[in-house]
Amino acid sequence: MIQIGNVRIHPVSDGVFWADGGGLFGLVPRVLWEKVVAPDALNRVPMALRCLLIESAGKRILVDTGYGDKFTDKERGILGLTSEGRLLADLARLGFRAEDVDIVLNTHLHADHCGGNTRWNERHEAVPTFPRAEYWVQRLELADARFPDERTRGTYFADNFMPLEHAEQLRVIDGDSLVTPELRLEIAPGHTRSHQVVIAESLGASAIFLADAASWAWALERLAWVPAYDVEPLISIQTKKRLTRWAITRQALLLFEHDPRLVSGRLREEDGRFKVDAEQGID
Ligand SMILES: [Zn+2]
Repeated sequence: MIQIGNVRIHPVSDGVFWADGGGLFGLVPRVLWEKVVAPDALNRVPMALRCLLIESAGKRILVDTGYGDKFTDKERGILGLTSEGRLLADLARLGFRAEDVDIVLNTHLHADHCGGNTRWNERHEAVPTFPRAEYWVQRLELADARFPDERTRGTYFADNFMPLEHAEQLRVIDGDSLVTPELRLEIAPGHTRSHQVVIAESLGASAIFLADAASWAWALERLAWVPAYDVEPLISIQTKKRLTRWAITRQALLLFEHDPRLVSGRLREEDGRFKVDAEQGID
């Protein structure tokens, strides 16, 4: 458990998947990135599916929900899924049940961030996994997800977000938003047009869940390294510059969603370059 002033943050995991290194590292040649992360025989690298359960102002707030467990075996093979769908079990380990969650925050609607929003019921219909929760989604992200283009079609699945609307559990927000007096959402675009990060600020302490603005520590240490799936890569770099500046000033704790080696770290500037010092290793 991580304490940020009055805010309690529990890192939880939906499991791990294996992503093609070419997608994750974009234009960076493998001879460079393989020194940072060694790929397997299929050129894949492991990706954590880390989520957060945050306790703030009497609310239990879940940030992202992993890939979930609605895939067929064929889809699992294509997506490199080996151990997804474990979020509820991991929450139970900490003593939380699905019905305990008051709010679900989706940083964006790519399938590895919101697949656990819903589950199949006995009639094979997708229904909200968290029966009491209000799910908060950005208006522009919802529009992009409902009407994907040729390039984003493979990651926006209606079953992950449309049932929320049908169950009247969807809350559409527009831009930077306050979740509680000490927890807020801030638009951090680039990966998607309205991708958002989650920031806790309480009693002078700060933490930021970077989601896919910088899903691994190396993405902050090398600002030009941008994944191929970011829809606006130059905006991603601007976002990372702004967030690193903020993190240095506030000495904020950084929380990483996909970094399998690092749950959290702190940023330091050295000779004009950024370095992430590990705070907590693997979950
Ligand atoms: Zn992701």
